[in-house]
Amino acid sequence: MSDLISQLQHILRRKCLLGQSRLPLSEQNRALLQVRLLEPRPQAKESAPPQTARTAPPALSASAPAPAPVAAPALRPLPPLQQLGWDELEQAMRTCQACALYQTRQHVVCGGGFRQSRLMFIGEGPGAEEDRQGRVFVGRAGEMLNNMIKAMGFDREAQNPEHGVYIANILKCRPPQNRNPLEGEAQACLPFVQRQIELLQPELIVLLGGVALKYLLGLTGITKLRGNWLEYRGIPVMPTFHPAYLLRFERQKNLFVNEKRKVWHDLQLVMQRLAPPGA
Ligand code: SF4
Repeated sequence: MSDLISQLQHILRRKCLLGQSRLPLSEQNRALLQVRLLEPRPQAKESAPPQTARTAPPALSASAPAPAPVAAPALRPLPPLQQLGWDELEQAMRTCQACALYQTRQHVVCGGGFRQSRLMFIGEGPGAEEDRQGRVFVGRAGEMLNNMIKAMGFDREAQNPEHGVYIANILKCRPPQNRNPLEGEAQACLPFVQRQIELLQPELIVLLGGVALKYLLGLTGITKLRGNWLEYRGIPVMPTFHPAYLLRFERQKNLFVNEKRKVWHDLQLVMQRLAPPGA
């Protein structure tokens, strides 16, 4: 049959060249042609994918296993804290799963110091060293805070009202890469520090840095607000810079001295306001 088709094509081509567009066909040839036209066309070779297909991400083959969905961490809301004493409160922190940070922490950093202290320092959250040791304000920022506390006539190791202090953070677990806490993380953790303040009932609170200022008092702008007396539930609050902020300027001597002087000014206001023990 293919010979007949070739012949008919050849004749048609010649007719076209002669300006003739019609080819008289016998009944038999017409029938053969119809059969040929109704035959399924051979499968065309797969053409090259269009330009956009090349740049599109590769499609998953039907047999490839779908990637496992990333499960959201299972969170557990905080238990009521109002009735908890110091030890129970710390136990609640250590088992806390109220925000996703429980998944990446090495240790919960509860805070520490003298539990009847008149003076409380509140920072932001644990850094790498605090997370490793499970202790609040260790590492270089911790050393700087220790020096400040000593210069004020206190001692973070002291267990008496005359020299003892209590130190805590807004956040009890370290955010990965020391990033700032997310709003949800800080809000989830806030009841812990609020209960710590309730238990301690300090005469004065020093807030270290903008994160502590934001979450305890709902205020932003540590640069403007530092050195000004604020208040938390009737307790005078002095916001000042975080020691880690000061450490950023260590190599720029003039700036370092200048920023440290501001912090020292704020701490002197605290010392002036703090009544002598037993007064
Ligand atoms: S950061 Fe606070 S709220 Fe989040 S898991 Fe740790 S203790 Fe719980």
